[in-house]
Amino acid sequence: MAAREHAVVVGAGMAGLLAARVLSDAFARVTIVERDAPSSGVRRGVPQGAHLHGLLDGGRRIMEELYPGLTDELVAAGAPTGEPLRDTRWYLHGRRLAPTATGMRSVLASRPFLESALRARAVAVPGVDVAGPGTVTGLCTDGSRAVTGVRVRPRSGREESLAADLVVDASGRGSRVADWLRAAGHAAPVQERVDVDLGYATRFYRRRPEHLDGQLAVTVSTIPRFRGGGCLAVDGGRWLVTLAGMLGDHPPADAAGFEAFAATLPTPDIHRVIGAAEPLGDPVPYRFGGSLRRRFDRLPDPARGFVALGDAVCSVNPLYAQGMSLAAQQVRVLRAQLASPGPLDPRTFYRDTARLCDAAWEIATRSDLALPEVDGRRPLPARVLDGYIRRVQLAAHRDPVVSRAFLRVANLVDAPATLLAPRVLVRVLRPGAC
Ligand SMILES: Cc1cc2nc3c(=O)[nH]c(=O)nc-3n(C[C@H](O)[C@H](O)[C@H](O)COP(=O)(O)OP(=O)(O)OC[C@H]3O[C@@H](n4cnc5c(N)ncnc54)[C@H](O)[C@@H]3O)c2cc1C
Repeated sequence: MAAREHAVVVGAGMAGLLAARVLSDAFARVTIVERDAPSSGVRRGVPQGAHLHGLLDGGRRIMEELYPGLTDELVAAGAPTGEPLRDTRWYLHGRRLAPTATGMRSVLASRPFLESALRARAVAVPGVDVAGPGTVTGLCTDGSRAVTGVRVRPRSGREESLAADLVVDASGRGSRVADWLRAAGHAAPVQERVDVDLGYATRFYRRRPEHLDGQLAVTVSTIPRFRGGGCLAVDGGRWLVTLAGMLGDHPPADAAGFEAFAATLPTPDIHRVIGAAEPLGDPVPYRFGGSLRRRFDRLPDPARGFVALGDAVCSVNPLYAQGMSLAAQQVRVLRAQLASPGPLDPRTFYRDTARLCDAAWEIATRSDLALPEVDGRRPLPARVLDGYIRRVQLAAHRDPVVSRAFLRVANLVDAPATLLAPRVLVRVLRPGAC
């Protein structure tokens, strides 16, 4: 049986901080190597942290499993909480989803706030350590080509090797994993992309209780041309307002342009908040080229002693808010597989996590491919299913049973197949449902 003495995690983002927790059950020591110094604000390595980060309830539940009490801790520290569709408003295709009880819980927080809480939890786990800022520059291998550690360039000082029985790449979308694997004599995963040329702009405002009639959030999207926005009550008594547009239709990052873009959305909710609330800082822009997937699951002989997870494997269009929850789901697979004795089999890991990535990828790219300008394959069975999902979304405007079922699937709480259950199907297909 291979030694389970030391695991190294590359990156202290969402995936890394969650992976460290499950690795600590299987390895005597876990070292997270992160190139940024700790910060309670937006870090250089996570520029997306300035923008809306909705935590789906499916992801929140896994985080709670890994770090019990996390939800209450976030709420006690100032994250608003409520029930989606009851305390928050969803406008899909320009119309509001029918309000109803969903049996789910939203915890609304800025990304740095959530990440700081997870980091505090991770470093408090016995055996887990975050190395002083350092950048991983490559992998170390032995004669049998198994990965045996990483090379690290500390902020100051010379590059050094850090030996590990397992290396977990959680270095995010910009991971250099393909270069690292090639340099170590391994095949690199092929990449798949669906480009959407998405633009975000985000501004914070001071929140007062009367804004948005006391509700906690509103999210809005339009079709056929996608424009949207989200206005979330977050930590620090603030509104986080993100506006977004696809295929080059980007929201301006100057105050007047930002406000004018908000005024074009099909409901005045966000524009009203912007008009009534005091801004805290200027709008900040962000560009996202497209969904990106590295097909580790297709490697015939993946390197032993190494796995990748999180955005390094599958980074999907953020409009569907799946990224953090997908990372959490992958970590749950890691935990299950580490529960068996012996070395982790990377092929089994990639096979099982690929199913999760497939689901997230389908949700994001299929919605994107509904726009004729987006390049990609549109097989007939997928188009038939897309037609049904569109009916589900339209029926969800009127029918609370359908809106509840849809939102639970969108939150990765229930399986997509529940949308085909007879009680939903009948309501979606009956005349006049849409
Ligand atoms: C604009 C935008 C909005 C988003 N909105 C949402 C949302 O609403 N909901 C949601 O769930 N997800 C959202 N996401 C996705 C979410 O940000 C990611 O899915 C999530 O952060 C993935 O976690 P990760 O740990 O894989 O990567 P990251 O969180 O990006 O962390 C990677 C870490 O690795 C470090 N690192 C990188 N290279 C090295 C190296 N060589 N050595 C050492 N350290 C390194 C980085 O500094 C960073 O800390 C959004 C993404 C974007 C771009």
